[in-house]
Amino acid sequence: MPPLADAELLARLVAFDTTSHKTNIPLIRFVEEYLRQHGVESSRVPTADGEKASLFATIGPAGVGGIALSGHTDVVPVTGQNWDTDPFTVAERDGRLYGRGTCDMKGFLACVLAMVPELVRRKLQLPIHIAFSYDEEVGCTGVRPMIAELGNRLPLPRVVLVGEPTDMTVVDAHKGPMRWSVEVTGKAAHSSMPHLGVNAITYAGRLLGELALIEAELKALAPNPRFDPPYTSLQVTEIEGGTASNIVPVPCWFGWEIRRLPGFDAAALDQRFRRFAANECLPEMQRVAPETAIKIDITNEVPAFAADAKSEIVSLALKLAQQNDTFAVCYATEASLFQLGGAPAAVIGPGNIAQAHTPNEFVHVEQLEKCLAFLGRVADWAEG
Ligand SMILES: [Zn+2]
Repeated sequence: MPPLADAELLARLVAFDTTSHKTNIPLIRFVEEYLRQHGVESSRVPTADGEKASLFATIGPAGVGGIALSGHTDVVPVTGQNWDTDPFTVAERDGRLYGRGTCDMKGFLACVLAMVPELVRRKLQLPIHIAFSYDEEVGCTGVRPMIAELGNRLPLPRVVLVGEPTDMTVVDAHKGPMRWSVEVTGKAAHSSMPHLGVNAITYAGRLLGELALIEAELKALAPNPRFDPPYTSLQVTEIEGGTASNIVPVPCWFGWEIRRLPGFDAAALDQRFRRFAANECLPEMQRVAPETAIKIDITNEVPAFAADAKSEIVSLALKLAQQNDTFAVCYATEASLFQLGGAPAAVIGPGNIAQAHTPNEFVHVEQLEKCLAFLGRVADWAEG
């Protein structure tokens, strides 16, 4: 295989439609083959059904920590978005490369792969690991089995750089989303006889009122000015309920989320909400009909991230980025999960988050060039 430039590699990666609900295996196979051509073996951490896999590879010496370059292979759907060009064919215009995932985050993956021939040529004293995951866009779920293998079947990196789009600045903190699903089950009755039924929508409304109260309280807590907004945010995201205009509604379901600041006690909030449901709603409902219920489930949780102050990761990332300042962001990444898995992480990657998930998503060519130069300094560091 002749050496491929980052833009060519990006075009190849974007051409695989790896929307989260689809397989990423063709892309993984391409990366495996590419690495093999450069003499690099890799291993998969597959899902049980084999439809998706993470990929882990090491360049340089085995048995020492080194640095991991981490990214996710999945992208968000293009459904319902109005694109000017085919989202899975990279189009270049005015120094920008357009296509789904160019910014979030196949641009970073392409830069990492473009560096492989050079990394192989260098005399690395410390290993550089490649860690590509799946299902990041649906709650950072795909990376978790791979992280569980670190220090076991796979080497535990000393530090991890997560290449999410940060405009190539160093991000050392992010909020942690947590999502709930609430299912209220009432009792049906003719709508002319509401006292014989239990109105699920009415009780869902009470629960929503409590959430609005909690939201206001969260906003009033001491702000953390590193974040925008500077508080743990809360919002209801989805709702569905009722059957017909003349039936007391039995089903009402809604989803809500918080995006918590590092250090926020989500367990206390969860308990408060459950207590409200159990004490303020359920007894009334069950007095009319004992079979009524409120089911509350946590559907996803990504921990908030604050870089490990005892680790070298932030100073190292700043040195390699040739910068002095770090930033905090409100979107979640896999960094907190790596850190909990024993590998301190920081986030730095090409592209701006404002272009992520949007129609006509793009990355500036100049951002990819910056990323390649950055990865060159990572290689210098690993060469010792
Ligand atoms: Zn991403």
